[in-house]
Amino acid sequence: MIAIIGCGASGMMAAISAARAGKKVTILEHNDKPGRKLAVTGNGKCNLLNENREPGNYRSQDSRFVESVFAAFSAVDEIAFLREIGIPVRNKRGYYYPHSETAASVVAAFAEEMERLRVRVLYGAEVTKVSPLTADVNGYRIEYTIAQDSRQMYAESVIFACGGPAGDHLGAGDFGFRELRRLGLTVSEPHPALVPLLLSNKNAKTVSGVRLDAEVTIDAAGESNDSPDAGSEKGISSGLGLPKTEFGEVVWTDYGISGIPVMQLSRFAEEALSCGKKVLIRLNFLRDMSNEEALREVMRRTQEEAFSERDIEHAMDGLVPSKLMYVILLRAGVSPQKPAREITPDEARRIHKELTDMTLPVTGTRPFAYAQAARGGVSLSEINPDTCECVRFPGLYVTGELLDMDGNCGGYNLQWAFATGAIAGRNA
Ligand SMILES: Cc1cc2nc3c(=O)[nH]c(=O)nc-3n(C[C@H](O)[C@H](O)[C@H](O)COP(=O)(O)OP(=O)(O)OC[C@H]3O[C@@H](n4cnc5c(N)ncnc54)[C@H](O)[C@@H]3O)c2cc1C
Repeated sequence: MIAIIGCGASGMMAAISAARAGKKVTILEHNDKPGRKLAVTGNGKCNLLNENREPGNYRSQDSRFVESVFAAFSAVDEIAFLREIGIPVRNKRGYYYPHSETAASVVAAFAEEMERLRVRVLYGAEVTKVSPLTADVNGYRIEYTIAQDSRQMYAESVIFACGGPAGDHLGAGDFGFRELRRLGLTVSEPHPALVPLLLSNKNAKTVSGVRLDAEVTIDAAGESNDSPDAGSEKGISSGLGLPKTEFGEVVWTDYGISGIPVMQLSRFAEEALSCGKKVLIRLNFLRDMSNEEALREVMRRTQEEAFSERDIEHAMDGLVPSKLMYVILLRAGVSPQKPAREITPDEARRIHKELTDMTLPVTGTRPFAYAQAARGGVSLSEINPDTCECVRFPGLYVTGELLDMDGNCGGYNLQWAFATGAIAGRNA
């Protein structure tokens, strides 16, 4: 019998793969239903995979491990599998979704296939301890509680598919990290990834709610994050692979900043902060203009007759949302009420700087409840990429978010969970 801890994305995939190979499978899941996290992915639409094979989308210490996993269970394999269980996919510029665009339909299809294959699922079963049996007897003892009743079961193989603490309000947690470390595996501490950032921004409330495309750069320098909320600091290469840049819609909030480009960069910001670096976020709201064009555009609004009767705040109308422009003027040290014709060349240059390189200190990330992934996990050196079996513990497999790999936003994490789940289930 194979025991699987966790009825999420990788656990359900592992169960189906193992059951299709003729194995008896029991899943232990502490929630009262399958795939709670899977059901909310992609804002309820479930971004299942991505056709972009760039290695940079998979952040790990060992890119060959990632390649081996996708060689053993490719995007084509995933699409074929999903189709078999009744989930044809929709390709939206390389991002794949279920045709229904409903994550709940993906969870239901997995659950129905598990039922057809007679996979046994114990809901409300909180796994508390996993121990290898003696040197003479292969297998594992799994201790768990159901409604405070302590129980145990024995299995020839155990698959750790219990995910990480990202989205911890959905039943996720760090049990797998703690338990595998207790068993002696090298497990690095989980940290939030794909998560909104906290900023030191005294104008946060004013700008909260603004959404606007921007080029976003994360930069780091120095040892502490104690710089003033000033807009002129230039970062220095940190040795952590920074600076890094993304483009897309930025969402301003009263705690800081969010949106896809911010989420993509957040793990780098968090990593640099964890190393004691001072981290800066730099925003260019006029990325579609060259630096010279952007400066000319600002200058012309302070010089041409069409704008000369307006105050500078209104002379800038149309470039960025007015709430953001107001904050830009405050940061540039220019009164929003000042007549446009009275703006000095130096003031115009400061406004241009804030529009093209607004720089704010990052003070942290939102907690795991707001994260979509975890940086850290079981060292890939502990795991055989062809089987997902632990090198030092035959019969013990590790999948999905528990492994030290975190993917970009865009379907990469589910693709990883499904691929590692399929490989572990097939080999267990
Ligand atoms: C809000 C949100 C949106 C996301 N959107 C996307 C997206 O669109 N595309 C994408 O690729 N990725 C997305 N992700 C990431 C993706 O959901 C995860 O990478 C993936 O679910 C990880 O799969 P897993 O099997 O490792 O863990 P999970 O899917 O988290 O499954 C782990 C299961 O184990 C159970 N469990 C934990 N501890 C125990 C225990 N002690 N005993 C018993 N059961 C236990 C949990 O309840 C859970 O059901 C999103 C994540 C979040 C939080």
